[in-house]
Amino acid sequence: MDHLDLAAAQQLDAADPLRAFADRFVPTEPGLVYLDGNSLGRLPISTRDRLRRFVDDEWAGDLIRGWDRWQDLPTQVGDRIGEHLLGARPGEVVVSDSTTVNLYKLVAAAIDGRPDRTAIVADADDFPTDRYVVEGLAAQRGRSVRWVEGDPIEGLAVDTVVNVLDETVAVVVLSHLHYRCGALADVAAITAAAHAVGALVVWDLSHSGGSVPVDLTGWDVDLAVGCTYKYLDGGPGAPAWLYVRREHHGVLRQPIWGWFGQRDLFQMARGYDPRDGVAAFLTGTPSVPALVAIDEGVALLAEAGIDRLRAKGMALTSFAVDLLDAHLDPLGFTLGSPRDPERRGSHVSLRHERALELCTALTANGVIPDFRTPDSIRLGLAPLTTSFVDVWTAVDRLATLASLTS
Ligand SMILES: *Cc1c(COP(=O)(O)O)cnc(C)c1O
Repeated sequence: MDHLDLAAAQQLDAADPLRAFADRFVPTEPGLVYLDGNSLGRLPISTRDRLRRFVDDEWAGDLIRGWDRWQDLPTQVGDRIGEHLLGARPGEVVVSDSTTVNLYKLVAAAIDGRPDRTAIVADADDFPTDRYVVEGLAAQRGRSVRWVEGDPIEGLAVDTVVNVLDETVAVVVLSHLHYRCGALADVAAITAAAHAVGALVVWDLSHSGGSVPVDLTGWDVDLAVGCTYKYLDGGPGAPAWLYVRREHHGVLRQPIWGWFGQRDLFQMARGYDPRDGVAAFLTGTPSVPALVAIDEGVALLAEAGIDRLRAKGMALTSFAVDLLDAHLDPLGFTLGSPRDPERRGSHVSLRHERALELCTALTANGVIPDFRTPDSIRLGLAPLTTSFVDVWTAVDRLATLASLTS
């Protein structure tokens, strides 16, 4: 038997300790291969059921009385994310606004926490919203941006960042896992280098949270944000989490003062007096249905365990790379992600000069990946829901389409 044929993929599925989790998601249409769980995670059955109960019993039934419980959800769900997925201590994570707005709040807090410093270090090839937030804050607060750029496949090297650090840097804003190539940055080493010059760090964990083990405490991270609608399966537009290290509580202050950050919400007091702890980073009324959905998504990930999720993620991406080498390399594809599985997350990018056209054709043929400019087809291999047969099918169809149209 060829170790890369369909039977091999079926054997890998049979031996997969997480294979039963796929049955705990609402099925897609028959035959669909969904490789975009890193952009919008699929819907767990438990989430659908909990949302139905929430709508019928809590929203329709409890109405305004529900807020007695709902107001604690941002910190409760934040703590669960922190404990199971981030290596945070209790009281350091809260679910609040979009990733973009949370990033704005944290980067602003960091700049304001280093008032005599003039520079922000950021990645010129980072996800667009992260770059725009940095540009906007630099303009608003009269700071300059020192852009760094990593290798398009291997990502950001520690030295690339170290080379631009000095005592004028207020904050370093970077992503842990690159959205296109999937390369992992060395958070601990870069954070230590930033601290050595007295700068703060803000890490964006949108593509690593829920797929790669994270140790915010051990890595000495100051501030972090991450998405909940990707690997956390919180649903379209679910709000993001944010992390503020305990040592910064009451010291760093976020710029959007609202009543959810106020010490006693319903006192309607004059004058803003922020809550203790990470709750001071809340702003306005949170989306309760989204919080309920995130809670269920995190429960599933916690049950699977981040180490098993990581092991399966590496096995899936390694299988995809082996298939690429065997079947796609002769058709003009190259690997757009690190070859070392330890150095990449749970998605792989395949580069091809006709990537956009092939991506569109693949979608029309029942396989949903992502196109990323300029020439990448990104296969998101969410460990809870993606099977080895899914990976095999995607590569097989891609090979057929590329040879038909070449
Ligand atoms: C997905 C993602 C975002 C999303 O930001 P939103 O405010 O939710 O639109 C931001 N940053 C990175 C790195 C992402 O991967």
